[in-house]
Amino acid sequence: MKFRVDFDARRCGGAGECVAVCSNGVWTWKEVEFRFLGKRFKRLIPFPENQEKCVGCKKCEKICPTGCVRVVEA
Ligand code: SF4
Ligand code: SF4
Repeated sequence: MKFRVDFDARRCGGAGECVAVCSNGVWTWKEVEFRFLGKRFKRLIPFPENQEKCVGCKKCEKICPTGCVRVVEA
């Protein structure tokens, strides 16, 4: 069975609980750019880069405090 990890970066707090809890290396850190008050900033956020490694345990979904992770059957 294959799984897909849906992630809404707009609601992510960025503390990396998902990265820490996944023992399958699905989550990595990714640099994103954003604008605030007319200036550009860079920020590291978690990203489910290696989705093919997901076993569907849903630990990341359960630990996420903002509800921005959903693990579904692909
Ligand atoms: S469901 Fe489990 S294996 Fe898949 S990304 Fe989340 S913690 Fe990792
Ligand atoms: S657990 Fe949720 S809020 Fe925390 S870093 Fe991961 S996706 Fe973002």
